[in-house]
Amino acid sequence: MRKFGAYPIQVNYNLHTRLRYQHKEDDFHRAGRYDEERQLDIKVNTSSDSTLENNIYRYEINEYEQTVCNCLRKIEGNPVGRMVLGLINKKTTVWIVPKSEEELKASFSAQTWPLKYDIQKDGSVARGAGSGDTVILFDPKLGDDTLLHELVHAYRYSYNKFQPLNVDYRTERASFSVTSEEVLAHQIENMYMSQGKRPLTLDYLSQAAAEKKEIYDFLADNYFLLQSLKYFLRHEYLAMLAAHTFMATDYNPFRDYAALEAEYLKGAISPTVPELGTPLGR
Ligand SMILES: [Zn+2]
Repeated sequence: MRKFGAYPIQVNYNLHTRLRYQHKEDDFHRAGRYDEERQLDIKVNTSSDSTLENNIYRYEINEYEQTVCNCLRKIEGNPVGRMVLGLINKKTTVWIVPKSEEELKASFSAQTWPLKYDIQKDGSVARGAGSGDTVILFDPKLGDDTLLHELVHAYRYSYNKFQPLNVDYRTERASFSVTSEEVLAHQIENMYMSQGKRPLTLDYLSQAAAEKKEIYDFLADNYFLLQSLKYFLRHEYLAMLAAHTFMATDYNPFRDYAALEAEYLKGAISPTVPELGTPLGR
């Protein structure tokens, strides 16, 4: 287990511990013993594999924790990444833990959820609601851009601000539905990539490669994405700070929001764009 710099982040290799207790968590869940399930899950995510069998996993532990810390250093070396890292609530802890090769095969992605997630009353296994400390299930193969994206979620949870609202949008190929939390994380991720002079993507779900101009046209053409940007500019410090800080970053839709909205309004009947979540008729 290692703490990353002065940030409230613990990189913790616990793969074998987690896999060993998985069936027990499942048993608790099936029996409706959700409190015990969560208690065990918290213990698993905050325990290191170094406690197992005379530390036989020490090479794996070292390799994982070293590689993730290198990834975090890369994020810290990018001003957009440094902003996200620096804003995570220091009264909380972000636990970065590994995914197994099998889990990666089933879903090549990372996940973030609250360590002490809200227990769902309907018996669902969903763990996305809650706040405070977080767990990021992450493999270095997913890349520093993916980790940065998850850290935006962790930041929102750390201040009890993770509140997914539905956002519909369309590309030339299809229609999509995402949450406002994914919209925010994706925009910050694109800014991070732009800052590093790396390729951008059009949107969270299609992940299609796109240039800044194409993405701006797409945003100016999607009412609910504009509403999301406006919502975050008004309520999310990260977005406001990004708008006022990264003047030299080519891609910065928060800084350029007024121009995007003006572009949209050229062809619109409505004289303004409301922020996301505003009831109709207001
Ligand atoms: Zn996400």
